[in-house]
Amino acid sequence: MNDPAAHDGTTDGEGTGAPAAPGRATDIGDGTRVVRAGLPEPVKYEPTLPGPVFAAHFHLPGDPTGPYTYGRDDNPTWTHLERAIGELEAPGRTDTETLVFASGMAAISSVLFSQLRAGDAVVLPSDGYQALSLARAQLEAFGIEVRTAPTGGDAQLEVLDGAKLLWIETPSNPGLDVCDVRRLAEAAHARGALVAVDNTLATPLGQRPLDLGADFSVASGTKQLTGHGDILLGYVAGRDATAMAAVRRWRKIVGAIPGPMEAWLAHRSLATLQLRVERQNATALEVARALRERPEISGLRYPGLPDDPSYKIASEQMLRHGCVVSFTLPTRARADRFLEALRLVDDATSFGGVRSTAERRGRWGGDAVPDGFVRLSVGAEDPEDLVADLVRALEESAG
Ligand SMILES: *Cc1c(COP(=O)(O)O)cnc(C)c1O
Repeated sequence: MNDPAAHDGTTDGEGTGAPAAPGRATDIGDGTRVVRAGLPEPVKYEPTLPGPVFAAHFHLPGDPTGPYTYGRDDNPTWTHLERAIGELEAPGRTDTETLVFASGMAAISSVLFSQLRAGDAVVLPSDGYQALSLARAQLEAFGIEVRTAPTGGDAQLEVLDGAKLLWIETPSNPGLDVCDVRRLAEAAHARGALVAVDNTLATPLGQRPLDLGADFSVASGTKQLTGHGDILLGYVAGRDATAMAAVRRWRKIVGAIPGPMEAWLAHRSLATLQLRVERQNATALEVARALRERPEISGLRYPGLPDDPSYKIASEQMLRHGCVVSFTLPTRARADRFLEALRLVDDATSFGGVRSTAERRGRWGGDAVPDGFVRLSVGAEDPEDLVADLVRALEESAG
């Protein structure tokens, strides 16, 4: 029954028919869960994780019913990955469905544009991922009212009345502010609004928005989820069957689907998620502690630092604090010299990969950050090597 062909691709991706997969149990650790997540029942002479299925169409005599008809609608490689992500986002739950997309933005857009109509109101973060502002302009062009609120301090509460959807990004990228998902979800639900959480930065091992009351957990799989900086991917995990049917329909309309190779690589990468997250996040805390001692650095943020403004709520609702550290150097020139001097940290955007990256975020022009603001993504290098490289680059960039 765990054969993806037994899965009815038109309805619930999780919990339909298949026996309780080990990954769905709640009494196992994350390391155990990730190595087994989404695997089909063992079949003699078949690989543990079946290879990517390259198919634009499937043999389909007679009535065109699912699960596998045409490659824009469903694919067995997606099914395995969707089950895996569902097991991580919602262990123990059978009421969720997960859908994978070509990118994080494809996943985000599928929720926004499938749930909202002209005349509706939506609350977006004012400090969220920079391409959200492009989505905002498009929503407004479609006659949807967009209200914004900053992530920290639960200011979203003030603008919820009459909203159809509350969009939360916590921790926010790149500012690393955190809001109280449970409190905001309760307030939104009391007003009849749906709640979506962008879970990219935390990953499902760092935060489980559906357990905190959200209707959708949406993420870019491009970042720490897959962790090698070599694929773009996104997903939506949701609890509301009607809403998820609309998200699925939107994926079909827009065709923002992942290639089978990307989906398979993502699934393969999930097996090491716990190892990567543990290592990278532990090093991020060490790096944050080391950078905090430096006189040229201001505005250091890491939600796992006990004196960080996000620490209290982050520690209550997150399981792990992420691999991103942000801070500000005195000037743009100083930040550029610092990035140039680094040897173990690539000057590149994105985050969450096994190789550390950093960038001066202001170079894109989309975030309200100081000129010297640096977003650092901590990789899987040895912590002492990384700290030494950062400290040396700070010193070399001084003069
Ligand atoms: C990167 C990112 C996205 C967009 O994901 P893509 O895979 O690049 O489309 C969305 N939200 C957050 C928080 C991100 O960091």
